[in-house]
Amino acid sequence: MTEPSIFTRILNGEIPAEILGETDRVFALRDIAPQAPVHLLVIPKTAEYRDVVELAAGDPSLLAEMVAFAQELAATHTDDGDFRLVFNTGETVGQTVFHVHAHVLAGDLQEGTLAS
Ligand code: 5GP
Repeated sequence: MTEPSIFTRILNGEIPAEILGETDRVFALRDIAPQAPVHLLVIPKTAEYRDVVELAAGDPSLLAEMVAFAQELAATHTDDGDFRLVFNTGETVGQTVFHVHAHVLAGDLQEGTLAS
């Protein structure tokens, strides 16, 4: 059996983190190492899908729910509601947690791994 992901451990309260919001199927956190003035993570509660490709194939409605939730967060956490949604997919482009999650980036986006 594989170890629970860091996000599952946060969801289970094993690792402290402020959960910014949640629905039955998704939840949101502030990224611990922000790369933009607003850098949030939208994460499905299930750890079944390792990346967005698996999620899109396995449960497109859950992917749509993540996008809708990202929009709601951006409406709350930005002045204009605009945001960038990033799904790192694979180790060589920087994916480190293999429990699918979306980065919600906003504010003054500078050059950087996720923001450029
Ligand atoms: P990835 O690199 O897989 O696309 O994104 C994983 C993200 O999770 C990274 O941006 C990293 O900073 C964030 N992260 C890793 N561990 C924690 C944690 O314990 N708490 C929070 N809030 N974010 C984390």
